[in-house]
Amino acid sequence: MFVKNQIVPVTIEDISDTGEGIGHVDGFTLFVSRAVPGDTVRARIVKAKKTYAIARTEEILTAAPGRVSPECPVAGSCGGCQLAYMSYEAQLAWKQKRVEDCVRRIGGFAEVPVLPILGMEEPRGYRNKGQFPVGAGPVLGFYAGHSHRIVPTDRCPMLWAGHEAILAAVREYMQKYGVRPYDEETGRGLVRHVLMRKGFATGEILVCMVINGSTLPKAERLWELLRAIPGVVSLDININTADTNVILGAETRTLFGSGVVTDYIGDVRFAISPASFYQVNPTQMKVLYDTALSYAGLTGEEVVWDLYCGIGTISLFLARHAKRVYGVEIVPDAVADARKNARDNNIDNAAFYEGAAEEVVPKMLADDAAGELRPDVVVVDPPRKGCEKSLLETIVSMSPKRIVYVSCDPSTLARDMRILCDSGYEAVRVQPVDQFPGSVHVETVCLLSNTQRPKKESYITLDVEMEDYYRIKNEGKNSTT
Ligand code: SAH
Repeated sequence: MFVKNQIVPVTIEDISDTGEGIGHVDGFTLFVSRAVPGDTVRARIVKAKKTYAIARTEEILTAAPGRVSPECPVAGSCGGCQLAYMSYEAQLAWKQKRVEDCVRRIGGFAEVPVLPILGMEEPRGYRNKGQFPVGAGPVLGFYAGHSHRIVPTDRCPMLWAGHEAILAAVREYMQKYGVRPYDEETGRGLVRHVLMRKGFATGEILVCMVINGSTLPKAERLWELLRAIPGVVSLDININTADTNVILGAETRTLFGSGVVTDYIGDVRFAISPASFYQVNPTQMKVLYDTALSYAGLTGEEVVWDLYCGIGTISLFLARHAKRVYGVEIVPDAVADARKNARDNNIDNAAFYEGAAEEVVPKMLADDAAGELRPDVVVVDPPRKGCEKSLLETIVSMSPKRIVYVSCDPSTLARDMRILCDSGYEAVRVQPVDQFPGSVHVETVCLLSNTQRPKKESYITLDVEMEDYYRIKNEGKNSTT
């Protein structure tokens, strides 16, 4: 057992989801800040627990080959770029290994090819969206890792160049008109976050002030400052009066301008409102969607389901190559955006359904006696926790020819791949794509193909079979353990 302030030499083997270097000493796991895989460091214990300890790098004894000094002045204190101390090549190698480890160890797939990660040529200035917390001062910045302490900063090297002007305008407005930042301790004050998003294809910028109240005083003054910045098309407020660390509240209002940012993916135009999910890296988003499109293998005849569809980006990108596309999404605003985006692009072979995929999909099937909705291809793009098991069962029961799984967490991807492959699917290949240079996050596209398409015509019957399948499987498990 370690004690606080003890100094231990440790070699870093891996990096955690939150960016700490991971090493082992005498069977204990050490989480060491500012250390990267391959480093050997003298670490000072900050907090000791029974099986692990939190430590800080005191001195680097041997630097990892891929170690760099970050260019960003707040790297190391800002929680955003956990891999700031690794060269981009080292980051890509680490992400590749992470996906491979998950597929091999969690999924248990020894043979499935994991293709080389598709990285960026210029891994900076790629983000189209920034969220800056606002604190006393007013200071604008980023949260330090694991905390709500604001690290003040004027700019983020990962965001598009020129966003600094927006922060300066907000700061000037708050100072001039005495608009107070929100204080998490007391629940008083108004401005919680500044959210900004740019459509890279159009140059349009939307600024949304997340506030602890329903009105922004002297909003027209802020608008005057903002509209002088090239590209700014909208000033919105989002109302969040709850004592919460969730950034956005339920209600968004447009004070001035369009209320949306327009962007293009390929030749499809998208209008994106402040609360909607939209990929933050447009360059790599195209790479990701092109991969998904090629894995979907569309000829124009297929019925495609796009589950977790957000504002319909993948759905509409695929619609031009498919017979029909059905999107399912839980956030009502996003569904409204998806429908509008379909109309605006004159795409009439895409329909969108609101609700949780695991609830909506079985209902749609129950109403589809004729089997017209039955998919040839199912695309899923779930949040980090992956798909509900019941949804995977429903998908299997529909027996699509191909499943294209777009994932933002390789560990839940590997878990879900295993479930699908235990139910008649074969994992064909896995393609990591680097959507978030600098961060620990990695996006992956996996193609799964149906090895037993369809023995039974009705998916209702297959549904029952799936239940049996899992009952038998679980019973089997219980009897052996
Ligand atoms: N495919 C889209 C969005 C992917 S992000 C794109 O590439 O832009 C995941 C989306 O899943 C989010 O829009 C989120 O709101 C939605 N979501 C989360 N849980 C869900 C559920 N249970 N059912 C349907 N959608 C869900």
